[in-house]
Amino acid sequence: MYHRLSDGPFDPEEGDYVLPPSLFEVQARGLVAAGRPVVALGALAGGCYEDGAVALTFDDGCDSDATVAGPLLLSLGVPAAFFVNPALAGREGRASWDALRALAAQGFAIGSHGLDHTLLDGLGPVELERQLAGSRREIEERLGRTVDALSLPGGTGGARALRAARAAGYRLVLGSRPGVLRGPAGDGILPRVAMRRTRGLEGFWAAVERRPLFMLRLRARHALTLAGRRLLGTRGYARLREKRLGAGRP
Ligand SMILES: [Zn+2]
Repeated sequence: MYHRLSDGPFDPEEGDYVLPPSLFEVQARGLVAAGRPVVALGALAGGCYEDGAVALTFDDGCDSDATVAGPLLLSLGVPAAFFVNPALAGREGRASWDALRALAAQGFAIGSHGLDHTLLDGLGPVELERQLAGSRREIEERLGRTVDALSLPGGTGGARALRAARAAGYRLVLGSRPGVLRGPAGDGILPRVAMRRTRGLEGFWAAVERRPLFMLRLRARHALTLAGRRLLGTRGYARLREKRLGAGRP
């Protein structure tokens, strides 16, 4: 799970999730050089992928999807999925509809990351439906193709969001719980591993190779995050985290 790729100054809320393009390039070229299979999201649904394969996803619809990640991955022949917030497309730092159309035409998957990145915990049914079904509808209308994957904003929403996503027609729902997928995607929320600037290349390979201690640490950290959210509420926790750590949303 990637977010923005940039060397420039970035929003403190994005924090550690912003990777220098050079680091991403080393990672992507490293996958190809190592002969590691990189598969499209669609392969996950049917479980048609080799053991040890990876899928690359990008959240938030950042402009670097189109200016950095897309061109590099296209040149390497590597698939990826970009999860966007339709209400924010074309705003400062976000990819425009034209850029997203170009990515889709190049064969990349475009999924929904909710309408405007509102965190889904505690939303009423009408707003939840608007965020999930509404965002799907808008992306499909704008791009003229089917959208069947959702990445939960901030990894929020849990089982309720999963049910609403199914009702809205999504086939794949991706979360932020660190983990490894084995076999077909099934009916649950798919695990992912967030790429972080401070974990560098070492963290990248630890995730790709699913090193047990690394994965255990990620899961422990994620469990702490969830406990913090339960204690303070999702928004209270996000505010505290920004203040204390200057680090971003998962
Ligand atoms: Zn996000």
